[in-house]
Amino acid sequence: MKTILLNPGPVSLSEGVRAALSRPDLCHREAEFSELQQSIRDQLLRVYELATETWASVLLTGSGTAAVEAMLATLCPRDQQVLIIENGVYGERMRRMVDAYGISAESHHQAWGGALDIQSIGARLEQGDFSHVVVVHHETTTGRLNDLAALAEVCLTSDTRMLIDGVSSFGAELIDFDNWPIDAVAATANKCLHGVPGTAFVVASREALSKAVSGRSVYLDLSDYLSKQDAGGTPFTQSVQTFYALDKALQEFFDQGGWQARQQLFRQRMHTVRTTLAELGVTAVLPVDETSCVLHAFELPEGRDYATVHAALKARGFIIYAGQGQLSETVFRISAMGDINSNDMARLQQALREVIAT
Ligand SMILES: *Cc1c(COP(=O)(O)O)cnc(C)c1O
Repeated sequence: MKTILLNPGPVSLSEGVRAALSRPDLCHREAEFSELQQSIRDQLLRVYELATETWASVLLTGSGTAAVEAMLATLCPRDQQVLIIENGVYGERMRRMVDAYGISAESHHQAWGGALDIQSIGARLEQGDFSHVVVVHHETTTGRLNDLAALAEVCLTSDTRMLIDGVSSFGAELIDFDNWPIDAVAATANKCLHGVPGTAFVVASREALSKAVSGRSVYLDLSDYLSKQDAGGTPFTQSVQTFYALDKALQEFFDQGGWQARQQLFRQRMHTVRTTLAELGVTAVLPVDETSCVLHAFELPEGRDYATVHAALKARGFIIYAGQGQLSETVFRISAMGDINSNDMARLQQALREVIAT
C-alpha cells in the first residue's frame, strides 16, 4: 500500500517527478546544468507571469527556511528597521533570524491563528520608520491565510515594502506582484509546486536585489547567487537531482493549469476532508474563507490523543501532521498538497470514518 503524505511538505511525488531524480549524473559546472538552472528560474517567474526585466528568481540548495533566511539576511537594510508580523511559528522564526543577524526590527505580535490587526499595524507603520514589513502569507501553524491584500494597502500608504514568507502558498494562492509593494517572496520546491525537498528559492525584484546588503552571510547571500546565476553559474554545488525534480514538477504544474488550477484542486480536496470530518463531529480551527487552500487545522475530538489518531491513520496509509508548540495536544493538521488521486481521497474518507468514529 502506498503511503500518502498529508503533512505540509514534503509531498507525495508524481511518478514523473520521481523518475526525474534518476536522470544522468551531471556536474554543476557543465553547460547542461546552466540550462537546467535557467529553465527552472524562468518557469518560477512564469508561475505568476513576472517579467524577467523586473523580477529575478534565485535558486538555493536548502529547505524553505534557507530561502527565508537568505531573503532577510540580504534584503533587510542596515540603516532602517523592519516590522515583523508574528501570528504563528513561522513569523516567530523570522524574528529569531533577524535577531541572529543583528537586524534592527520590531515585532507586531498576535495570538496564533488570529486575523491580522491591520489597523494597528497601519498605525505602527505610520509612526515608525520601517523599510519593510516582514510577513508570512500562509501561516502553516494554523492554516491562517494572512490578508496580504489589506496589509499591502497600509504598506502602500506608509511607503513600506513587503518581504514575504510564501513557502506554503507560492504556486497555490494569489500573490499580487503587480499591486502589492513586494520586494521578495521566499518559497520552496517541495510544497505547492510538488517537487522534492532540497531546492528553495527567492523571487525578488531586481531593484531590491540591486540594493542588497552583503557581508551578513556567506552561504545565504542572494546577490552572490544572482550575479552567478545570471551568468549561468552557481556560487556553490547545487543539489542537481532535486533540480531535475523541480524542473519536471514545474512542467507538470503548467500542464495541469498553473496556480489557479492547483488552488481549485486543493480547495476540492480540503472540502472533502472538511465535510467528512464535520460529519464525524470534528470542528475546524478556522472558518473556510480565512484558511488557505493548502492546509486546514482541526480540533482533536474530546478524549482522543494525537499519537493514537496519527498511528491509526498511518496504518491505513495516511500521514497527518501534529499541531506545533502550544497546539500540539489539541490540534491536528491535514494538507492537500501532492500527487493524490480520487481513489486515494475515497480511501482517506473511509480511513477518517474508521479512525475518528471509533
Ligand atoms: C514549511 C514552511 C517553512 C520552511 O520549512 P522548512 O522545513 O525549512 O522547509 C517556512 N515557512 C512556512 C510558512 C512553512 O510552511
